Amino acid sequence: MKKQKLEFYKSLGLKLTPQRLAIIEYLEGNKEHPSAEDIYNALKPKFPSMSFATVYNTLEILVKKGLIKELNVESTRKRFDPSTHPHHFFCKRCKKVIDVDNQINISVPEQLKGFDIEDIQIIFYGLCSECKSESK
Ligand SMILES: [Zn+2]
Repeated sequence: MKKQKLEFYKSLGLKLTPQRLAIIEYLEGNKEHPSAEDIYNALKPKFPSMSFATVYNTLEILVKKGLIKELNVESTRKRFDPSTHPHHFFCKRCKKVIDVDNQINISVPEQLKGFDIEDIQIIFYGLCSECKSESK
């Protein structure tokens, strides 16, 4: 990891253990929207002593610092996104999560005027094109 980046993470008050760095690096540019389990399984061979709690806690901290986004596309497990795309598609069959780039214009409902809205997430649910053609 570049020194500049290391300084950035340090400036956020993140204690940078080798495991944490590996988690951050795994997520960088990752488009798979992995779950904590996915990340744990991917890094386990390199860090046999790493616990699942370490992965989970690191993810929680990164979410809190606004560096990654937590996606509640599945009810059973959280998925994580290093880019902070507001919109996603979730395939209910293959569990794939895709970033949706299109700008979607949403105006804040009258009822919420005067509130501080920090985030709006839109999740499109359904079948991806591959799953759709397989299910025919
Ligand atoms: Zn699919």
